[in-house]
Amino acid sequence: MSFIRGDRRVKKLGQCRPRREEVARKDTMRLRTSCMKCLEVDGQPPELANSVELRDDGLYEVTCSRGHVTVTAIQEQKFEILFDLGAMALLDGYTREAVSSTAASLERFFEYYILVVSLKHGITYEQFSEAWAPISKQSERQIGAFLFFYLVENKKPLEPLILEARPELDGRSRGDTPTWSAFRNDVIHKGYIPSAEEVIEYGNLVYQFTYRLIGELKASSSEFMTKATFHHLQRAQGADAGQAVATMSVPTLVSLVRAERPSRHLREALPGLEKYRRWLYDRPQSHS
Ligand SMILES: [Zn+2]
Repeated sequence: MSFIRGDRRVKKLGQCRPRREEVARKDTMRLRTSCMKCLEVDGQPPELANSVELRDDGLYEVTCSRGHVTVTAIQEQKFEILFDLGAMALLDGYTREAVSSTAASLERFFEYYILVVSLKHGITYEQFSEAWAPISKQSERQIGAFLFFYLVENKKPLEPLILEARPELDGRSRGDTPTWSAFRNDVIHKGYIPSAEEVIEYGNLVYQFTYRLIGELKASSSEFMTKATFHHLQRAQGADAGQAVATMSVPTLVSLVRAERPSRHLREALPGLEKYRRWLYDRPQSHS
Protein backbone atom coordinates (compact mmCIF):
# COMPACT_ATOMS: atom_id res chain seq x y z
CA MET A 1 0.00 0.00 0.00
CA SER A 2 1.17 3.40 -0.85
CA PHE A 3 1.36 4.79 2.71
CA ILE A 4 3.81 2.08 3.83
CA ARG A 5 7.05 3.56 2.71
CA GLY A 6 10.09 1.40 2.20
CA ASP A 7 12.13 3.13 4.88
CA ARG A 8 9.46 2.51 7.53
CA ARG A 9 9.50 -1.20 6.81
CA VAL A 10 13.23 -1.30 7.06
CA LYS A 11 13.04 0.50 10.37
CA LYS A 12 10.49 -1.98 11.65
CA LEU A 13 12.64 -4.95 10.66
CA GLY A 14 15.56 -3.29 12.38
CA GLN A 15 13.59 -3.01 15.60
CA CYS A 16 12.85 -6.76 15.61
CA ARG A 17 16.47 -7.67 15.47
CA PRO A 18 18.64 -6.09 18.18
CA ARG A 19 22.00 -4.88 17.05
CA ARG A 20 24.95 -7.11 17.91
CA GLU A 21 26.37 -4.73 20.51
CA GLU A 22 22.98 -4.46 22.23
CA VAL A 23 22.87 -8.24 22.65
CA ALA A 24 26.39 -8.22 24.07
CA ARG A 25 25.60 -5.43 26.52
CA LYS A 26 22.56 -7.14 27.93
CA ASP A 27 23.79 -10.70 28.11
CA THR A 28 27.46 -10.72 28.98
CA MET A 29 29.11 -10.79 32.38
CA ARG A 30 29.96 -7.27 33.41
CA LEU A 31 31.99 -5.21 35.85
CA ARG A 32 31.81 -1.60 36.92
CA THR A 33 34.80 0.67 36.90
CA SER A 34 35.00 4.26 38.07
CA CYS A 35 37.04 6.94 36.34
CA MET A 36 40.15 7.69 38.41
CA LYS A 37 40.69 11.07 36.74
CA CYS A 38 37.17 12.24 37.64
CA LEU A 39 37.95 11.10 41.17
CA GLU A 40 41.15 13.18 41.18
CA VAL A 41 39.39 16.28 39.84
CA ASP A 42 36.18 16.08 41.92
CA GLY A 43 37.53 14.37 45.02
CA GLN A 44 34.76 11.79 44.82
CA PRO A 45 33.89 8.93 42.49
CA PRO A 46 31.74 9.89 39.49
CA GLU A 47 28.03 9.22 39.89
CA LEU A 48 27.84 6.95 36.90
CA ALA A 49 30.14 3.95 36.90
CA ASN A 50 31.28 2.60 33.56
CA SER A 51 29.83 -0.80 32.83
CA VAL A 52 32.31 -2.99 30.98
CA GLU A 53 32.16 -6.53 29.66
CA LEU A 54 34.26 -9.03 31.61
CA ARG A 55 37.52 -9.76 29.76
CA ASP A 56 39.93 -12.65 29.84
CA ASP A 57 42.97 -10.48 30.57
CA GLY A 58 41.24 -8.50 33.35
CA LEU A 59 42.32 -5.18 31.78
CA TYR A 60 39.67 -2.57 31.10
CA GLU A 61 40.23 0.49 28.95
CA VAL A 62 37.39 2.91 29.54
CA THR A 63 36.67 6.43 28.27
CA CYS A 64 34.39 8.27 30.69
CA SER A 65 31.74 10.79 29.68
CA ARG A 66 34.29 13.61 30.15
CA GLY A 67 36.77 11.96 27.80
CA HIS A 68 39.31 10.64 30.31
CA VAL A 69 40.89 7.36 29.26
CA THR A 70 41.73 4.95 32.08
CA VAL A 71 43.11 1.43 32.00
CA THR A 72 41.95 -0.51 35.02
CA ALA A 73 43.53 -3.81 36.05
CA ILE A 74 41.46 -6.14 38.19
CA GLN A 75 43.44 -7.35 41.16
CA GLU A 76 41.61 -10.66 41.45
CA GLN A 77 43.27 -13.76 40.10
CA LYS A 78 41.62 -15.78 37.37
CA PHE A 79 40.49 -18.50 39.78
CA GLU A 80 38.62 -15.96 41.91
CA ILE A 81 36.72 -14.58 38.90
CA LEU A 82 35.99 -18.04 37.47
CA PHE A 83 34.54 -19.29 40.73
CA ASP A 84 32.11 -16.34 40.74
CA LEU A 85 31.17 -17.02 37.13
CA GLY A 86 30.32 -20.58 38.12
CA ALA A 87 28.17 -19.40 41.01
CA MET A 88 26.41 -16.83 38.79
CA ALA A 89 25.68 -19.55 36.21
CA LEU A 90 24.14 -21.57 39.03
CA LEU A 91 22.00 -18.60 40.14
CA ASP A 92 20.82 -18.33 36.53
CA GLY A 93 19.93 -22.02 36.42
CA TYR A 94 22.74 -23.13 34.09
CA THR A 95 24.05 -25.99 36.18
CA ARG A 96 26.39 -27.53 33.57
CA GLU A 97 28.05 -24.18 32.94
CA ALA A 98 28.39 -23.69 36.70
CA VAL A 99 30.37 -26.93 37.00
CA SER A 100 32.54 -26.04 34.02
CA SER A 101 33.57 -22.65 35.47
CA THR A 102 34.08 -24.13 38.94
CA ALA A 103 36.36 -26.81 37.48
CA ALA A 104 38.29 -24.14 35.56
CA SER A 105 38.61 -22.12 38.77
CA LEU A 106 40.16 -25.09 40.57
CA GLU A 107 42.67 -25.64 37.75
CA ARG A 108 43.69 -22.00 37.79
CA PHE A 109 44.05 -22.18 41.55
CA PHE A 110 46.53 -25.05 41.10
CA GLU A 111 48.50 -22.73 38.81
CA TYR A 112 48.38 -19.91 41.35
CA TYR A 113 49.61 -22.23 44.10
CA ILE A 114 52.54 -23.39 41.96
CA LEU A 115 53.39 -19.75 41.16
CA VAL A 116 53.44 -18.67 44.81
CA VAL A 117 55.59 -21.64 45.90
CA SER A 118 57.91 -21.04 42.92
CA LEU A 119 58.38 -17.39 43.92
CA LYS A 120 59.09 -18.55 47.45
CA HIS A 121 61.89 -20.77 46.14
CA GLY A 122 63.59 -17.87 44.41
CA ILE A 123 62.24 -18.59 40.95
CA THR A 124 61.44 -15.45 38.96
CA TYR A 125 58.04 -14.81 37.43
CA GLU A 126 59.61 -15.02 33.96
CA GLN A 127 61.18 -18.41 34.72
CA PHE A 128 57.85 -19.64 36.05
CA SER A 129 56.07 -18.50 32.87
CA GLU A 130 58.66 -20.25 30.72
CA ALA A 131 58.32 -23.50 32.65
CA TRP A 132 54.53 -23.28 32.62
CA ALA A 133 54.23 -22.84 28.85
CA PRO A 134 54.73 -26.52 27.87
CA ILE A 135 52.12 -27.72 30.40
CA SER A 136 49.72 -24.81 29.98
CA LYS A 137 47.30 -26.88 27.89
CA GLN A 138 47.58 -30.14 29.81
CA SER A 139 45.56 -30.18 32.99
CA GLU A 140 46.70 -33.64 34.10
CA ARG A 141 50.33 -32.47 34.11
CA GLN A 142 49.33 -29.34 36.01
CA ILE A 143 47.68 -31.44 38.71
CA GLY A 144 50.84 -33.56 38.90
CA ALA A 145 52.98 -30.47 39.30
CA PHE A 146 50.63 -29.06 41.93
CA LEU A 147 50.68 -32.25 44.03
CA PHE A 148 54.47 -32.27 44.13
CA PHE A 149 54.75 -28.55 44.84
CA TYR A 150 52.37 -29.18 47.71
CA LEU A 151 54.60 -32.01 48.92
CA VAL A 152 57.74 -29.87 48.73
CA GLU A 153 56.01 -26.98 50.51
CA ASN A 154 54.40 -29.03 53.29
CA LYS A 155 56.71 -32.05 53.55
CA LYS A 156 53.66 -34.30 53.37
CA PRO A 157 51.27 -35.30 50.56
CA LEU A 158 48.03 -33.38 50.13
CA GLU A 159 45.31 -35.03 52.17
CA PRO A 160 42.43 -35.38 51.47
CA LEU A 161 42.75 -35.03 47.75
CA ILE A 162 40.10 -32.71 46.29
CA LEU A 163 39.91 -34.87 43.17
CA GLU A 164 38.81 -37.84 45.27
CA ALA A 165 36.49 -35.85 47.56
CA ARG A 166 32.80 -36.83 47.74
CA PRO A 167 30.05 -34.56 49.08
CA GLU A 168 27.22 -35.70 51.33
CA LEU A 169 24.16 -35.83 49.13
CA ASP A 170 20.65 -36.43 50.46
CA GLY A 171 19.44 -39.96 49.91
CA ARG A 172 22.77 -41.30 48.70
CA SER A 173 25.43 -43.17 50.58
CA ARG A 174 28.95 -41.78 50.36
CA GLY A 175 30.12 -44.91 48.53
CA ASP A 176 27.60 -44.36 45.71
CA THR A 177 28.45 -40.69 45.34
CA PRO A 178 30.86 -39.83 42.50
CA THR A 179 34.12 -38.12 43.41
CA TRP A 180 34.66 -34.49 42.34
CA SER A 181 36.73 -35.71 39.36
CA ALA A 182 34.12 -38.25 38.23
CA PHE A 183 31.32 -35.68 38.64
CA ARG A 184 33.24 -33.04 36.70
CA ASN A 185 34.03 -35.51 33.89
CA ASP A 186 30.42 -36.68 33.68
CA VAL A 187 29.26 -33.07 33.29
CA ILE A 188 31.97 -31.84 30.97
CA HIS A 189 32.56 -34.90 28.81
CA LYS A 190 29.36 -36.95 29.02
CA GLY A 191 26.67 -34.28 28.94
CA TYR A 192 25.38 -35.08 32.43
CA ILE A 193 22.87 -32.45 33.62
CA PRO A 194 23.42 -31.97 37.36
CA SER A 195 20.77 -30.70 39.74
CA ALA A 196 21.29 -27.35 41.45
CA GLU A 197 21.70 -29.24 44.73
CA GLU A 198 24.56 -31.34 43.29
CA VAL A 199 26.25 -28.24 41.91
CA ILE A 200 26.08 -26.52 45.31
CA GLU A 201 27.47 -29.57 47.13
CA TYR A 202 30.30 -30.19 44.66
CA GLY A 203 30.94 -26.45 44.40
CA ASN A 204 31.24 -26.39 48.18
CA LEU A 205 34.02 -29.01 48.00
CA VAL A 206 36.02 -26.70 45.74
CA TYR A 207 35.10 -23.63 47.82
CA GLN A 208 36.29 -25.21 51.08
CA PHE A 209 39.37 -26.75 49.50
CA THR A 210 40.49 -23.48 47.90
CA TYR A 211 39.97 -21.54 51.14
CA ARG A 212 41.85 -24.17 53.10
CA LEU A 213 44.88 -23.84 50.82
CA ILE A 214 44.65 -20.03 50.72
CA GLY A 215 44.78 -20.18 54.54
CA GLU A 216 47.85 -22.42 54.44
CA LEU A 217 49.58 -20.12 51.95
CA LYS A 218 48.73 -17.06 54.05
CA ALA A 219 50.33 -18.70 57.07
CA SER A 220 53.50 -19.80 55.27
CA SER A 221 53.98 -17.59 52.22
CA SER A 222 52.02 -14.34 52.48
CA GLU A 223 55.00 -12.30 51.23
CA PHE A 224 55.01 -14.35 48.01
CA MET A 225 51.26 -14.05 47.58
CA THR A 226 51.82 -10.29 47.59
CA LYS A 227 54.53 -10.77 44.97
CA ALA A 228 52.18 -12.82 42.82
CA THR A 229 49.58 -10.02 43.06
CA PHE A 230 52.25 -7.50 42.07
CA HIS A 231 53.09 -9.50 38.92
CA HIS A 232 49.39 -9.89 38.19
CA LEU A 233 48.88 -6.10 38.32
CA GLN A 234 51.96 -5.48 36.19
CA ARG A 235 49.81 -6.45 33.21
CA ALA A 236 48.49 -2.91 33.08
CA GLN A 237 51.94 -1.42 32.58
CA GLY A 238 51.70 -1.94 28.83
CA ALA A 239 49.12 0.87 28.64
CA ASP A 240 49.86 3.71 26.24
CA ALA A 241 51.37 6.92 27.53
CA GLY A 242 48.67 9.40 28.51
CA GLN A 243 46.34 6.71 29.80
CA ALA A 244 45.85 6.61 33.53
CA VAL A 245 46.47 3.20 35.04
CA ALA A 246 44.30 2.14 37.94
CA THR A 247 43.81 -1.04 39.89
CA MET A 248 40.56 -2.27 41.27
CA SER A 249 39.43 -5.06 43.52
CA VAL A 250 36.04 -6.69 43.11
CA PRO A 251 34.30 -8.74 45.80
CA THR A 252 34.40 -12.44 44.95
CA LEU A 253 33.15 -15.52 46.79
CA VAL A 254 36.61 -17.08 46.82
CA SER A 255 38.89 -14.23 47.71
CA LEU A 256 42.57 -13.78 48.51
CA VAL A 257 42.05 -10.42 50.20
CA ARG A 258 38.94 -11.24 52.16
CA ALA A 259 39.64 -10.63 55.81
CA GLU A 260 36.81 -12.59 57.37
CA ARG A 261 36.50 -16.35 57.36
CA PRO A 262 34.72 -18.05 54.47
CA SER A 263 31.13 -19.18 54.96
CA ARG A 264 30.63 -22.60 56.53
CA HIS A 265 28.99 -23.73 53.32
CA LEU A 266 28.88 -22.29 49.81
CA ARG A 267 25.08 -22.20 50.16
CA GLU A 268 25.42 -19.50 52.82
CA ALA A 269 27.70 -17.39 50.60
CA LEU A 270 25.42 -17.35 47.55
CA PRO A 271 22.92 -14.68 48.78
CA GLY A 272 25.82 -12.22 49.04
CA LEU A 273 26.69 -12.80 45.40
CA GLU A 274 23.07 -12.39 44.38
CA LYS A 275 22.98 -9.01 46.15
CA TYR A 276 26.22 -7.86 44.50
CA ARG A 277 24.94 -8.96 41.13
CA ARG A 278 21.71 -7.01 41.55
CA TRP A 279 23.79 -3.91 42.28
CA LEU A 280 25.98 -4.64 39.27
CA TYR A 281 23.13 -4.85 36.80
CA ASP A 282 20.29 -2.75 38.18
CA ARG A 283 21.80 0.63 38.93
CA PRO A 284 21.79 3.22 36.18
CA GLN A 285 25.06 3.17 34.34
CA SER A 286 26.81 4.65 31.34
CA HIS A 287 27.98 2.20 28.72
CA SER A 288 31.35 2.56 27.15
ZN1 LIG B 1 36.55 10.86 33.99
